[in-house]
Amino acid sequence: MSTSAEIIDVPLLIVGGGIAGLATALGLARKGRPAHVIERAPEFGEVGAGIQLAPNAMAVLDSLGVMDAIMKDAVLPQKKRYMDAVTGEEIGTVDLGPEFVEHYGYPYVVTHRADLHGALLEGCRASDLVTLETNREVLRAENLPDGRAKVVCADGTEYVADAVVGADGLRSAIRPLIVEDEPVPSEYVAYRGTVPIEMVPADAVETPMVLCWLGPHMHLIQYPLRGGKLYNNVAVFRSDFYSPDHENWGTEEELDARFGLCCDKVREAGQYLNREIRWPMYDREPVTTWTSGAVSLIGDAAHPMLQYLAQGGAQSLDDSLAMVDALVTEPNVEAAFKTFEARRAPHTGNIQRLARVAGELFHIDGVGRALRNYSFKDHNPTDYENLDWMFMPLSVAGDTRNYPY
Ligand SMILES: Cc1cc2nc3c(=O)[nH]c(=O)nc-3n(C[C@H](O)[C@H](O)[C@H](O)COP(=O)(O)OP(=O)(O)OC[C@H]3O[C@@H](n4cnc5c(N)ncnc54)[C@H](O)[C@@H]3O)c2cc1C
Repeated sequence: MSTSAEIIDVPLLIVGGGIAGLATALGLARKGRPAHVIERAPEFGEVGAGIQLAPNAMAVLDSLGVMDAIMKDAVLPQKKRYMDAVTGEEIGTVDLGPEFVEHYGYPYVVTHRADLHGALLEGCRASDLVTLETNREVLRAENLPDGRAKVVCADGTEYVADAVVGADGLRSAIRPLIVEDEPVPSEYVAYRGTVPIEMVPADAVETPMVLCWLGPHMHLIQYPLRGGKLYNNVAVFRSDFYSPDHENWGTEEELDARFGLCCDKVREAGQYLNREIRWPMYDREPVTTWTSGAVSLIGDAAHPMLQYLAQGGAQSLDDSLAMVDALVTEPNVEAAFKTFEARRAPHTGNIQRLARVAGELFHIDGVGRALRNYSFKDHNPTDYENLDWMFMPLSVAGDTRNYPY
């Protein structure tokens, strides 16, 4: 790497130090390739909330050598239980016990985002091949006539690289080079809260599980974290006052009104939420092109999805594996990016689309709600057929997925 006052020349630049950016840097380093990661925040880090990691995500984390670090504080839920948020009755269950682990080769894990991100960061820091820089806000990327690419930062610094990977999330500054589009508001908002387990009634946490309470225009997800010491809560609802012109929608008064119609256990969860921060939910329309010349997108920058299938982070990890495979196999950067995109975009597009449908199903009211509950009831908890296309590790499933919908 040679440095002048304003232009920094690196072989491979990754913009964004989230799950996708760090996993790609670590994956490249493990194959003997250098990676330079720039992040706009003053420190590398993740917000304090939980994340569900399906077996496809765990397989990638294993291949990155960070599985043991993650398992140290992770929780293995024994089931995912869907409940009607109004009546409090069970709708259906997915068994995540030994049969599930045997089927996929990896467990379903819930962990603190800081622990996942910290394990990836630790792995990057331990490698001489990964350079990590903070306080670098990227404004844009462009392709250069010599086949390389340039990235311009808000502080005037410029990077020139053989390859640029845009891992800068939903509002990617790299994406406009490749796709002209905008995030799509779902009109739903999330409130999150992680509390000491002692605050939660003992009977609610006897068996570690992911609880999904589904109700009209709302849902609540709950699960234990940090070896069972913390309890994670994500409350999501549709605002009746959404407007692109102001921020005064999805307020806590609306949250209380929506959750006020639910059963006791769901209403009680209102006290576990951090009311200071609300998270408006957006995705984008799926696209088939993530690549322009020496620049490509990965993770949420490429395929931001609604979180209802809990696969955004997992798909970012699968992307990182496919991206590293492509870059180490194909010497021409543009060809490598095209291979990566062709391998991943059809699959993540299906997940983006299905996540929207899952949201409809979670939040349906009236006759639809009754029909949903009725049809879920017959589901065999150890029948994983409809989950395989999403949960099966990339290395086992390959690129041909049997998309069932
Ligand atoms: C409520 C909620 C619950 C979820 N639950 C799950 C779950 O259970 N399981 C799961 O797998 N997924 C889940 N997801 C999705 C998951 O969080 C995301 O898909 C994942 O974080 C995407 O990672 P990323 O690295 O692509 O993007 P990000 O996490 O957004 O990281 C992007 C990084 O780039 C940096 N950056 C942004 N712009 C710039 C710039 N201009 N210059 C430099 N740096 C920049 C950011 O600071 C950040 O560090 C959930 C999402 C939400 C909202």
